[in-house]
Amino acid sequence: MVLRGVWGAGREGTGVTSLYLHVPFCFHKCHYCDFYSIVDKQDRQGVFTDRLLRELGALAEFAGPLETVFVGGGTPTLLRVELWERVLGAMRERFKFAEGCEFTVECNPETATPELFQVLQAGGVNRVSIGAQSFESRHLKTLERWHDPAKVFRAVELARGAGIERQSLDLIWGVPGQTLGEWESDLRTALSAGTTHLSCYSLTYEQGTAMTARLNRGEFVKTDEDVDADMFERTLEVLRGAGLERYEVSNFARPGDECRHNLVYWRQGDWLAAGPSASGHVAGWRWKNVARLDDWIGFDDGGFAPVMDVEEVEPRRNLRERIMTGLRIVEGVEVERAVLDAGARGGELRRVAGLNVERGLMVERGGRWALTDRGFMVGDAVAAEMMRVV
Ligand code: SF4
Repeated sequence: MVLRGVWGAGREGTGVTSLYLHVPFCFHKCHYCDFYSIVDKQDRQGVFTDRLLRELGALAEFAGPLETVFVGGGTPTLLRVELWERVLGAMRERFKFAEGCEFTVECNPETATPELFQVLQAGGVNRVSIGAQSFESRHLKTLERWHDPAKVFRAVELARGAGIERQSLDLIWGVPGQTLGEWESDLRTALSAGTTHLSCYSLTYEQGTAMTARLNRGEFVKTDEDVDADMFERTLEVLRGAGLERYEVSNFARPGDECRHNLVYWRQGDWLAAGPSASGHVAGWRWKNVARLDDWIGFDDGGFAPVMDVEEVEPRRNLRERIMTGLRIVEGVEVERAVLDAGARGGELRRVAGLNVERGLMVERGGRWALTDRGFMVGDAVAAEMMRVV
């Protein structure tokens, strides 16, 4: 299936202001990972870049001045410096960038070099999201992450030295064997790097990952639910104490340092997407590029990638998804619009929301339903209850 024929025709000039790029290469596969990433033994970085530039060329006609760009993976910083120069140069040629555009690149601490960061900064990158995951080598080993924890600090310093203003760190909690004290220590160590944005993810056991297979083989046990809940609460205490507020279930920032690109996703905004397995969403339509690298490289319709799962989301499902993603963010879901879109079920939606307010799981403020701290601990269940109504 081709994006141009299904969605793109006649939509040139749509003026989409966010763009996601997926770089699929990784050193090796981390055991908990279910992203599309490959350990490339054939050195396809060059052909990948050629193909990416063609896709960017095709997508440019749908873009307005870019407000946010996010390069994720995989390990984007594994892409060779000279290829980064080509990608960034092509983006400058083909896209306009809005003043203050937030341009993030995900970074593996092992791959940070002064040269790379200087090239990124010169190309407009002003934010790096560094995969720290843990500062305990033992836990990194469990996750099959191989970097030296000290490299995280070095990556932060290199980013600052190169003039990349914002650095975010990713951490994972609930690693088998991790104690509450160790988790708190990870949080404090991350803060000591001077970061103003932290993403703290609970370890999840996705189907088909090596981590899940090891769990099923009894190699370790899952973190106890109570410990997990304590870790969640301790995260809030420690980060709030340092002036970072939660703005999404797993994301914390100093006010003003929120990741604007991810907010576009959670607010169900529009974004274009390039690279294998990248998903896009524009004007109620969404699609996903095919994931397999060779399929994505080998198919080229005027630069457009082969896509799958192209659909115009029907209104009821759109509302359900709006509830799900809206409750993930602290700003919550717009009440009147949700009730209106729920039609005959609007009254019932209000009633169920009211019950959650009574239980202290949600508040209604500023015309929006939003989860409380307690509500965030059972956020999936609250969202599911409300989604069932509509
Ligand atoms: S580095 Fe990231 S994308 Fe690559 S395998 Fe590990 S978790 Fe997955």
